[in-house]
Amino acid sequence: MHPYVKKVLAIVEKRSPHEPEFLQAVREVLDSISPLFYAHPEYAKANILDRLCEPERQILFRVVWEDDSGNVHVNRGYRVNFNSVLGPYKGGLRFHPSVNLSIMKFLGFEQIFKNSLTGLYIGGAKGGSDFDPKGRSDDEIMRFCQSFMGELWRHIGANTDVPAGDIGVGSREIGFLFGYYKRLTNRFDLGVLTGKGEGLGGSLGRKQATGFGCVYFADDMLQVKGDTLKGKTAVVSGSGNVAIYTIKKLQDLGAKVVTCSDSDGYIYDPNGIDFELVRQLKEVEHKRILEYKEKHPHCTYKPGSKVWEIPCDVAFPCATQNEINLQDAQTLIKNGCRLVCEGANMPTEYEAVHLFQSNGVLFGPAKAANAGGVAVSALEMQQNAALTSWSFDEVDLKLRDIMKNIHDHCICCAEQYGSPGNYVVGANIAGFKRVAHGMMAYGII
Ligand code: NDP
Repeated sequence: MHPYVKKVLAIVEKRSPHEPEFLQAVREVLDSISPLFYAHPEYAKANILDRLCEPERQILFRVVWEDDSGNVHVNRGYRVNFNSVLGPYKGGLRFHPSVNLSIMKFLGFEQIFKNSLTGLYIGGAKGGSDFDPKGRSDDEIMRFCQSFMGELWRHIGANTDVPAGDIGVGSREIGFLFGYYKRLTNRFDLGVLTGKGEGLGGSLGRKQATGFGCVYFADDMLQVKGDTLKGKTAVVSGSGNVAIYTIKKLQDLGAKVVTCSDSDGYIYDPNGIDFELVRQLKEVEHKRILEYKEKHPHCTYKPGSKVWEIPCDVAFPCATQNEINLQDAQTLIKNGCRLVCEGANMPTEYEAVHLFQSNGVLFGPAKAANAGGVAVSALEMQQNAALTSWSFDEVDLKLRDIMKNIHDHCICCAEQYGSPGNYVVGANIAGFKRVAHGMMAYGII
C-alpha cells in the first residue's frame, strides 16, 4: 500500500474506532486505489483522501411518534452529507432497526463513488432511522415519516440534498415524506425527493432501475467473456425492491432464478421463481416470503438459512450488507458459481471478494453494479427540473447506456492501473478520479 494511503487509513481508524462497517468500506476502497497515488503525487499533496473520508456534515436527530395504541416511541434519525463536489448530496433513506452511524457512513461513503461513476452531477449522502417498519400499520408509517420529515425538511432541497428510498423506504414512504415536506414549507418542490410514485413526479422505470441495472452490468461482464445469461441458473437473495426487479430482468434475459429470501429464510423453487407472486406478496401486500409456499407447495422454504447453499451459475446478493461471508463464498465456488454481481450495498465480506477473484469468479462490485437506481433518480431530477416526463422505454434505454458506460469505464481503469478484469479496482479508481478532479479544481474547502 502507498505510504500516504496507509497513513490516511490509520487516521480514519483512529478517528472512527467504533464504526466497523464504515472502516470496512474505507479499507476496501483505499486498498484498491493505492496504485493511483504513485502516478498522481498531487493528490497526496492536497490531502484529498483524508478530506474524502470525513463527511462534510452529519445530522442526528430525535424522531418521536405515536403508535396506533397511543404509545409514544423515540427513534434516532440520521442524514450524512458526505461529499458535494459533483452535485447536490444524493442517496437513499433506510428505515431498519440495524441503522446506526457506522452503517450510515459506510453507505454515504460508497455513494460518493457510485454517484461519480454514473457520470451525472450528484454528490454522496445517506440517511435513515433505526425505526422498524415491519408489522406497522399504514397510519403508523405515515406518522413516523411525518415526524422524521419534521426535522429533515430544513436540511434538504432540490439543489442541496435530495434523498430517495433504500431498505424499508419505498414509494409509499416517499409519498408521506413529500406530502409533509410540502405542508411544512408551502412549496411544491418536486425535485426535493426521488422515488416518488408514478403520476406524482416519479420517473417511470425508477422502481425497476437498480435490479435491471444490476443485471445489465452482469450481462456486460459475461459478454466480455463471450457468454450470456441465457440458460444460466441464478440465485438471488432478498425479496425487496432490488431483488424483485433483478429476478424480472434475469428471467427476461433467459436465466432461471431458483431462489429469493427475506430475513426469516429462503424459498427454493426448482421450477423457477414465480416473479408475479413475489411482487404481489412483497411490493403490494408487504407479507413474508414464507407465504410463497402456500401458492407453490412443491417448493422448499428453509428458515434461518442463506440462499448461497443452492448450486448456481450466477449469484445476485440483493438483500443487505455482509450477507456473503468466506464460508458462503467457498460453497458458491465449490458448487460451480462463475459470476457474483452485487445488487445490495457491500453484501460481500472483504475476504470473500478476494476468494472469488482469486478463483476466477467474475465479481461485479455494488458501487458499479447497483448504480442504476441512483442514475435513474438523477434522471428523475432532470425530468422534474424540466417539468416533463419520459416514457418507460426512454428511461430504460438511458439506464442501459449508463450501465454500459460504467462497465466499460471500470474495465478501462482496471487495465490502466495494472489489474485487468478487476472490477473492484476499476470501479474505485474510476469513481475516485472524477471526485478528486473536482476537489482539486475547487481548492481547499
Ligand atoms: P427493501 O427494503 O425493498 O428489501 C430488502 C430485502 O432484504 C428484504 O427482502 C429484507 O427482508 C432483506 N433484508 C434486509 N435486511 C436484512 C438482514 N439484516 N438480513 C437478511 N435480510 C435482510 O430494500 P431494497 O431492495 O431497496 O435494498 C436492498 C439492498 O440494495 C440494500 O443493500 C440497499 O442499500 C441496496 N440498494 C438499493 C437501491 C434501491 O434503489 N432500492 C439502490 C442501490 C442499492 P426483510 O423484509 O425480512 O427485512
